Amino acid sequence: MIIMETIREEDILRDLWIKTRENLEKVEHDSLDKNVLDTLIKKGYCEIRGREVVLTKKGAIKAQAIVRLHRLTERLLFDVLRAEEEIYETIACRVEHYIPSELEESICTLLGHPRRCPHGRPIPRGRCCIEKRKSVNPIIQPLIGLKKGEVGRVSYIDANSASELQITSHGIEPGVVLTVIETKPSFVVEIKGTKIAIDRDTASKIFVVKK
Ligand SMILES: [Zn+2]
Ligand SMILES: [Zn+2]
Repeated sequence: MIIMETIREEDILRDLWIKTRENLEKVEHDSLDKNVLDTLIKKGYCEIRGREVVLTKKGAIKAQAIVRLHRLTERLLFDVLRAEEEIYETIACRVEHYIPSELEESICTLLGHPRRCPHGRPIPRGRCCIEKRKSVNPIIQPLIGLKKGEVGRVSYIDANSASELQITSHGIEPGVVLTVIETKPSFVVEIKGTKIAIDRDTASKIFVVKK
């Protein structure tokens, strides 16, 4: 049974990791709930240096695992259950505290070891991703794997921004449905009646759920 205090602690750990490790921001100790912070320090998850709170190695490992669960849950809700953004965010915030690690690896493998959450943030890799455990039909797969005539719903784009791949102007973003028109010599998809040619490198960075 997980108690409320643990959830508060895990939420703060998760936010600390995102702010300090991912966004490279500084977090001042007096911006956090003092009681929770004291507990986290006592448990060896973080420490105060000057005015800043920094994660210890132990804290960073735990926090990263929570971020991973949060983003995997978002994927599951977005790709499989088709939940709207406000719903998958709220549910992910709750579920992340309850998923045991055996189940986490099954979810990740089933989804096809996704690299990004629906917001485009990287999902920290798990043991299953490194070992590249295979599922028979991963739910999410690269667009390049689709055959002519197949339809897919965009799950995520494995780049820091769609503009990095120069595809923003075509409206290729999470949730968009596309049909593969041609795979050779170039990869052509149709989105809402518009045909778009995509180079093979880009098509391997767009991940979809086959319909
Ligand atoms: Zn997200
Ligand atoms: Zn995995």
